[in-house]
Amino acid sequence: MTDQRSYDDRDGWIWFDGELRPWREANIHILTHALHYASSVFEGQRAYGGEIFKLSEHSARLRRSASILGFDLPWSADQIDAACRETLKANGLVDAYMRPVAWRGSEQMGVAAQRTRPHLAIACWTWGAYFGDEAARKGIRLDISPWRRPAPYTAPTDAKAAGLYMICTMAKHAAENKGYNDALMFDWRGQVAEATGANAFFVKDGAIHTPVPDCFLDGITRRTVIDLARKRGVEVVERKIWPEELEGFEQFFLTGSAAEVTPVAEAGPWNFEVGALTLQLRQDYLDLVNKRTNT
Ligand code: PMP
Repeated sequence: MTDQRSYDDRDGWIWFDGELRPWREANIHILTHALHYASSVFEGQRAYGGEIFKLSEHSARLRRSASILGFDLPWSADQIDAACRETLKANGLVDAYMRPVAWRGSEQMGVAAQRTRPHLAIACWTWGAYFGDEAARKGIRLDISPWRRPAPYTAPTDAKAAGLYMICTMAKHAAENKGYNDALMFDWRGQVAEATGANAFFVKDGAIHTPVPDCFLDGITRRTVIDLARKRGVEVVERKIWPEELEGFEQFFLTGSAAEVTPVAEAGPWNFEVGALTLQLRQDYLDLVNKRTNT
């Protein structure tokens, strides 16, 4: 059973600008710039057996995302790593999802924000399979999003910025309202991009095909899974993928720190099998994050 309590009303500790605060006291003012103008960036990472997978890559990406939006974090990547570990430990968790978030404060109102101060908070909690255990085993069902990923010249698409998730939430709601688990998003050109919070991979004739991440996040899990596939001698082709091609793909899976490796059974009118290569890479990924491999 998932914990249905509101996220502001739980026990635990949240790291907030350098100190651990009781969970319910980790609050911000209503006139925070981030709330009005989306000047907020975040990370999503998982700890397995007490170790946060690829932590330094996540901390570096958090700093990069903030600087793309024009605010630099006064915490180094090493300091953010240490704060994440401290937060995990303070909450007594070993297997957890972690959410570092950085945002502009309330020193200035209006679109301009040069005088605002940057803030950083880190929370963590127990979170099972993103799509639920059963859906992940049988393959999830994706709607086709009415929203398209924006062009890199219309939004900071390399940043993990909160503002980019506005259309993801809208796409996800539209999908869930129709009984789907999530939505597949195309990009502004009409090419296949990704899901609302995970990257997309396809299998055909023993090879893997995945879209070039030129207008969406080049996920840390995406790169990990590409390495795992190549280690198995599987060809991985990064290329433009058009929706018409989905008809000819045999398998489809998503990757992400939250979603891990999740098979997809259906995307709009197209059907896929939960095939051997998908399940193998899912297992390889779980073995790697849980340190069950010798490599
Ligand atoms: N795309 C989007 C929109 C995401 O939110 C995520 C999750 N952070 C990903 C891709 C996958 O990124 P990662 O593997 O680094 O978690």
